[in-house]
Amino acid sequence: MTKNKGISNNILDLIGNTPLIRLNKITNNLSGNFYAKYEGFNPGHSMKDRIALHIIEEGERQGILKKGSTIIETTSGNTGFSIALVSIIKGYKCMLAVSSKASEGKINMLKAMGAKVYVCPAHVSADDPRSYYQVAKRLHEETANSVYINQYFNQLNADAHYNSTGPEIWEQTNGEITHLIAASGTGGTISGVAKYLKEQNPAIKVLGVDAYGSILKKFHETGEFDKDEIYPYRIEGLGKNLIPTATNFDVIDVFEKVSDEDAAHRARELAITEGLFTGYTSGAIIQAAMQYGEKGYFDENSKVVLILPDHGSRYMEKIYSDDWMKEQGFFDSKTHAHQQVEFI
Ligand code: PMP
Repeated sequence: MTKNKGISNNILDLIGNTPLIRLNKITNNLSGNFYAKYEGFNPGHSMKDRIALHIIEEGERQGILKKGSTIIETTSGNTGFSIALVSIIKGYKCMLAVSSKASEGKINMLKAMGAKVYVCPAHVSADDPRSYYQVAKRLHEETANSVYINQYFNQLNADAHYNSTGPEIWEQTNGEITHLIAASGTGGTISGVAKYLKEQNPAIKVLGVDAYGSILKKFHETGEFDKDEIYPYRIEGLGKNLIPTATNFDVIDVFEKVSDEDAAHRARELAITEGLFTGYTSGAIIQAAMQYGEKGYFDENSKVVLILPDHGSRYMEKIYSDDWMKEQGFFDSKTHAHQQVEFI
């Protein structure tokens, strides 16, 4: 398609090339320079646009996706929205198996983007036929011409970031980046970006972010699957209770775990200090930067890039809801934001 300077051919042309923004306040008590790669600037408001576009276009190149094909995924969040977005433009059907834990707002967003949504009970085991894993598998088997994205076990997930996010960060920092801080869920973002950056400069340190209640940090350190590490937590999209094959643990130097409460407060702080209205995991990444800083990872020459995965609008009923924060027991003397509305 022809490129016109002022006009995008369609919304997919706007995926990627997100800005790198200097943090001017929130990291001031740390040594070094900190830059946010703000993925909320993607048209679907998260970095998952990149993997949806890459995996779907790869399916087209390989001839797996054809006219009228159906794309299936287990997701309630960013990946579902991004797959639905790409499907609209490319003319595919989109079926998403989501957990009943997903908020009504999230399900409505997926429906608004034309996806067929299957709400599956949250508290059944992964091998129960009603679980969202099994429902997605069944839909895939029963639907002719269908493709199951399976982001946790799909190498193309990391390849999307190797091809786009990694090179963008290298260019935006003129190759001067010294540290990358990124969350790990499927591991696609951190693995793809880290591989690209380390190929350019092996001295770059890759600092992962995990959640208390997740297995990833312990597995990285010991190679063992320690079930005792796993318990419920609130941050969505970060950490895991299984080992995704999309994660390349060899390119990650170290993991730091953050708590639900610290991450929630940091996201709110990021909004009111830097004007960056981001999601829950972005708060986790800022918190991890503080913890890495306190442990002496940075000096005044450090150039640290933090990948902030998504926009804050998806979290209005969670970290940006004062009622939710109170229900979690998260409001304390650290924040007074709940005092800023007056009803007349
Ligand atoms: N943050 C958010 C909000 C996410 O949705 C995800 C994806 N699960 C991540 C971070 C982690 O990214 P990745 O899956 O690429 O490791």
